[in-house]
Amino acid sequence: MTHPMTIGPAWREQPTPPECPRCGGKPDHRAATCAATPTPKDAPMPIARDLSDLPPADPRDGLTPDPTPRFISVLADQWAEENYLAGDKATALGTRFRHSDAGKCSRAIAYTAADIPKSDPMDITGVWNTSLGTLIHEQWQEALAARFPDAEVEVKCATVGADGSGHIDAVIRDHLLNHTVAYELKTVGGFGFKAAVGAQRKGTPAEGPRTSHLLQASLNGLAVDADEVVVGYLAKECISLNVAKRFGITDDVGRFAAEWTLTREQYEPLARQEAERVAGILALVDDGLLAARKTPEMPPGAEITDPATGEWQRHDGPEDHVAEVGSTWECGYCSYQTLCSGTDAGRIPVESVVSIGAVA
Ligand code: SF4
Repeated sequence: MTHPMTIGPAWREQPTPPECPRCGGKPDHRAATCAATPTPKDAPMPIARDLSDLPPADPRDGLTPDPTPRFISVLADQWAEENYLAGDKATALGTRFRHSDAGKCSRAIAYTAADIPKSDPMDITGVWNTSLGTLIHEQWQEALAARFPDAEVEVKCATVGADGSGHIDAVIRDHLLNHTVAYELKTVGGFGFKAAVGAQRKGTPAEGPRTSHLLQASLNGLAVDADEVVVGYLAKECISLNVAKRFGITDDVGRFAAEWTLTREQYEPLARQEAERVAGILALVDDGLLAARKTPEMPPGAEITDPATGEWQRHDGPEDHVAEVGSTWECGYCSYQTLCSGTDAGRIPVESVVSIGAVA
């Protein structure tokens, strides 16, 4: 499939500015395509038009940002280009399911397994977010290996019970005690971190890691026969000192970092249940069907009725009336949302979606 994006810093569509900041010319072209702009290979990139002659903003009226920032997006643009050129990464062992998709909507897992092209590839905000996470992961893994020389990082593993595989962030072995820990690191936003550690609202218990994170960690743990799995959260925004005090977080590290340990007795049932769900989804694909739009985080029997909004419904009783309605955030972050919005609920033939993709 031809990718809709162009490559390079102009890969995201920018509005045409009132006048070109590079040549100062009329607004019939974008800065990135300005003929007056030498390429980096030919000449050093000039600073776009000098703006120092503009009157300074009056701080009493606020200080709005420049309408067309010139330098700030260079790193995000570079990461976006690299991400685009890298394309979709293969799974760790060439399987149809990857552990990082654990806990996802069954239909989304099925689209991937059936090789349906994504209708909503990651935008620059997603690239920024995931790339920051990758940087932190790499640095954390280096620091872990320095402190625990027996730790292995990015360990490839195969799902027990399904055609899946994954990379474990770290496997930490204590050879003396014959004890193995499978570690799953997640970088999270400040809001999610607060909810996970119970610093969101007074009287609200700590939610702990997201279900999908627990399932991924559990699949990893079972794959290497770990004695324990640990899910670690590093927040990209710290809890303020005042909020930390209010919620009894006395350790500064606790303002941005937390860990949850699951014993084998706790993680193994989760891993087996998720592997069984994935095996069922893959078996349906083998039969030419895509699974219904359900996620493990929704009540049993509930199905997503509107992928555009994430609305789900649970039907009940002999007349199949609507017993419960809710919504999931997952559709809003799904790479198949546009495509999925044009499909039917329930199990549907793979062929029906392939034809939608061809038309889109
Ligand atoms: S858009 Fe929603 S229902 Fe469709 S595959 Fe994605 S998460 Fe599932």
